[in-house]
Amino acid sequence: MGTTKYIFVTGGVTSSLGKGILASSLAKLLQARGYSVTIQKLDPYINVDPGTLNPYEHGECYVTEDGAETDLDLGHYERFLNAPTSQGNNVTTGRIYQSVINKERRGDYLGKTVQIIPHITDEIKRRIKILGSKGKYDIVITEIGGTVGDIESLPYVETVRQLKWELGNDALVVHLTLVPFLAASGELKTKPTQHSVKLLLENGVQPDVLVLRTEHDLGLNIRRKVALFCNVDIDSVVQSVDVPTIYDVPLKMREQKLDQTVLRKLDLEEGKEPELKAWNDFLSKLKNPKSETEIALVGKYVELHDAYKSITEAMIHAGAMNETKVKVRWVHSEEVTADNVAEKLGGVDGILVAPGFGHRGIEGKIEAVKHARENKVPFLGICLGMQISVIEFARNVLGLTNANSVEMNEKAQYPVIDLMEAQKGVTEKGGTMRLGAYDCQVKKDTNLFGAYKAAEVKERHRHRYEFNNDFLEQFENAGMKASGINPDTGLVEAVEIAEHPWFVGVQFHPEYSSTVLNPHPLFVAFVGAAMSNKNN
Ligand code: GLN
Repeated sequence: MGTTKYIFVTGGVTSSLGKGILASSLAKLLQARGYSVTIQKLDPYINVDPGTLNPYEHGECYVTEDGAETDLDLGHYERFLNAPTSQGNNVTTGRIYQSVINKERRGDYLGKTVQIIPHITDEIKRRIKILGSKGKYDIVITEIGGTVGDIESLPYVETVRQLKWELGNDALVVHLTLVPFLAASGELKTKPTQHSVKLLLENGVQPDVLVLRTEHDLGLNIRRKVALFCNVDIDSVVQSVDVPTIYDVPLKMREQKLDQTVLRKLDLEEGKEPELKAWNDFLSKLKNPKSETEIALVGKYVELHDAYKSITEAMIHAGAMNETKVKVRWVHSEEVTADNVAEKLGGVDGILVAPGFGHRGIEGKIEAVKHARENKVPFLGICLGMQISVIEFARNVLGLTNANSVEMNEKAQYPVIDLMEAQKGVTEKGGTMRLGAYDCQVKKDTNLFGAYKAAEVKERHRHRYEFNNDFLEQFENAGMKASGINPDTGLVEAVEIAEHPWFVGVQFHPEYSSTVLNPHPLFVAFVGAAMSNKNN
């Protein structure tokens, strides 16, 4: 393997243009040409990781196999590349400062004034290069969060400047901007792009490739104009027209030869034509569904769909696998009551109760589970969703009226969900949950086994509370069985109800490991069960 090449993806004009999807799509194309690629996200906020952020702030918190709580873009990286990311793939300003300050206290900089340049920028550089230094990757793509011009982004842009200077042709900057369409005059406007490139230039960074998000085809004249004003080659001005699904973006970038341009500029061989057969098969199934299946997603953050990104993507993957279009009915758990549950969930083919924290919306979730259980609607409960299914069963089947999770009521009379032993001494909130992948033994003759067709699986976790094994016998005698168990601790990782067409609650998060090429078996089985329910 030659030297590792570094690609930086920056964004201008506005946030939410899809830098994560662009980085993932470019990585996908390079991977499909035979290169080994990984993607990293640098987040300019001061939290050490997004684990302590409310989903309203920043969308879902994504968890890697090695237990890092990360930005949701890492989910896209894994879904596109079908390869795991890890702790090193997401770095925040908080983490950078934390290491620099720890080093200062240790005396590593003894005698020196510790400054943004070079100490902070060196630490950022180290975090970028660490991924390349393992000899595992030909190309490391680093996505810089935020928008150029943000105060928080400055040290990152400065680091990119230094790395471009140090690495020469081994580094390249792809800048993503917006070309808005002014309906009143019927014109596409390039000025915001020019301004954002000027901002980068003020910071000493000349972008090599520009990707322009647009609602309409840009045409050669506009691309020429942008090339001229921004000092880039015309074939390095790439348009990214809005598409119906994010999974189309790699193909659109391929049409625009983004992969070839990037490889040429990095002095890398074009290699073989991108191998995208499996990707195209997925897209073709996604776009030609034979039916529609409606799944209710019951959660308390439903106003912000990004809070459930991995779940909705996993349902898209599973829908394509089943050749059905999964339509999500967003149901706010706070609005569900015993009186309206039949109406709120009426006609759906499956019910998914989402993960979450804290008391808000709990009673609505319990009503949703009860509805699924009593009406034999296929049910998937994830993490808190599983815990809720246990509480519901305790209250309404076992008759333990005051059953609860200790998270909701510390003094619950029947604490059917209890704080894990390992959590009892935990006082700090950040990064202290049970995180990352753990083994799970799957019991034969269960829906879980039917889905996985495997007796042992590994799934990712993010929680503090757990099924209370003191109640297990009582639950099993009444028909709710533990179908997944952690072999080392005996923790219940999955429950199900045999006397129900498909009722599964899992303490782990299957959604994190669903990818385009490997839709998660539990989601595939759940959507399959929802389809059968509809047909009956
Ligand atoms: N709040 C629950 C716990 O900590 C569930 C967490 C989750 O849904 N991710 O155990």
